[in-house]
Amino acid sequence: MDQAYLDLLEQTKQYAAAYVGGVSTRPAFPDGTGLAALDAFDEPLPAAGADPARVIEQLHRLGAPGTTAATGGRYFGFVTGGLLPVAHAAEWLTDTWNQNAALYLMSPVASKLETVCERWLTELFDLPPDTAMGLVTGSSNALICALAAARGELFRRQGYDLAERGLRNAPPIRVVLGEDAHVSVSAALAVLGIGRAELELVPADAYGRMRAERLPALDARTLLILQAGNVNGGSYDPIDTLCDRARAAGAWVHIDGAFGLWARASGRQRHFVAGMEKADSWSVDAHKTLNAGYDCGIVLCRHRDALSHALQAGGAYVPFSEQRDGMRYATEMSRRARGVALWAVLKQLGASGVEQLLDTLCDNAEYFAAELEQAGYQLVIPVFFNQFLIRAGSPERTRRALERIQAGGVCWCGGSLWKGEPVIRVSVCSHATTRADIDQSVAAMRDALRDA
Ligand SMILES: *Cc1c(COP(=O)(O)O)cnc(C)c1O
Repeated sequence: MDQAYLDLLEQTKQYAAAYVGGVSTRPAFPDGTGLAALDAFDEPLPAAGADPARVIEQLHRLGAPGTTAATGGRYFGFVTGGLLPVAHAAEWLTDTWNQNAALYLMSPVASKLETVCERWLTELFDLPPDTAMGLVTGSSNALICALAAARGELFRRQGYDLAERGLRNAPPIRVVLGEDAHVSVSAALAVLGIGRAELELVPADAYGRMRAERLPALDARTLLILQAGNVNGGSYDPIDTLCDRARAAGAWVHIDGAFGLWARASGRQRHFVAGMEKADSWSVDAHKTLNAGYDCGIVLCRHRDALSHALQAGGAYVPFSEQRDGMRYATEMSRRARGVALWAVLKQLGASGVEQLLDTLCDNAEYFAAELEQAGYQLVIPVFFNQFLIRAGSPERTRRALERIQAGGVCWCGGSLWKGEPVIRVSVCSHATTRADIDQSVAAMRDALRDA
């Protein structure tokens, strides 16, 4: 056994412990000293190597102060999701094993855990029994996978083999989506050769939900893309109604539920996604609401063959097995064994633990929003799921308040535009957030409002 290797891991464990122990007192966004320290990384390419222990020491010393406190309790930016301890620990083992999850033959354990996660998620989300799951980097990639499956299938139903004959000579298909769809949807479509000018956009209501009465007539050449959880205000498209329309017309429905699809796993929240089982494909992130750590996007598809046909790379040297070969359901061949941490989180929480996590996030969001209203902010639309938007009077004052919140370091919220006006967006998506964290954040945000 290599003692230097073990010493390095031990040293790293201590750095990790120091970080975990200090994250609740670290600024939510790096302060001036932390940012300035990063300049020390700007060295020329080293001509000669360095001692690994010193490399890791430098990383800890210069790198840690340059992190956002995303694993702490007062980071409300984007929809990042915290990190459950069991996910962190499972990631350490995953790194230690360094498995390639492309094929069963490359990692039986990665294959087994993906198989189990596929079954568990199908049950947790209450999806059709043979739903296929692929594990990819995040929802942006999961969207590419799902929309590729949809595109291929819509062509196949018209007797056209896209993989063989290509997009250039393909018959027309239609893509219908809400005007408030996430930017990653149009980005995924562009990757797939479907341009913005081709999209049929459905107007949204005051909360950002697709207006069902404005849906164009659908047909069997149509891909309808719905949203479960608007990245700004958290609202959900009317999934049940729209899925019924799509089904009647033979259209393919995809649901982008990057953080919001998890509502399905809670008795109190599942009304948001009523009818979602009628869709054809879904994309969701385990790194967001589930707090499973980064690099864990999930694509789910009712039509197993459509997904694997769209993504599969064959070749004489790729020996597919009778077992699960994860690359069949992902854009990549070589892949990190993402299923390990996902399995660990689902195993630790169980269905009731997932439900409790979701309900706590949602309760915290409600509480936070009510306290901020007390403090003088205006809630822009009602709280949906774990997200809400606030204003501080005029657009200028909203901008100034946000600047002060971000500079203060107590908590961190992002800014956005809602119907063209600046807003502060708050996403409560970490298991680590306590009522005390919220109270502390409200106090800082009250001060920011006063100074703005
Ligand atoms: C975050 C998000 C995405 C993109 O997901 P990534 O994991 O960041 O690629 C897509 N859609 C919605 C609604 C999101 O919130």
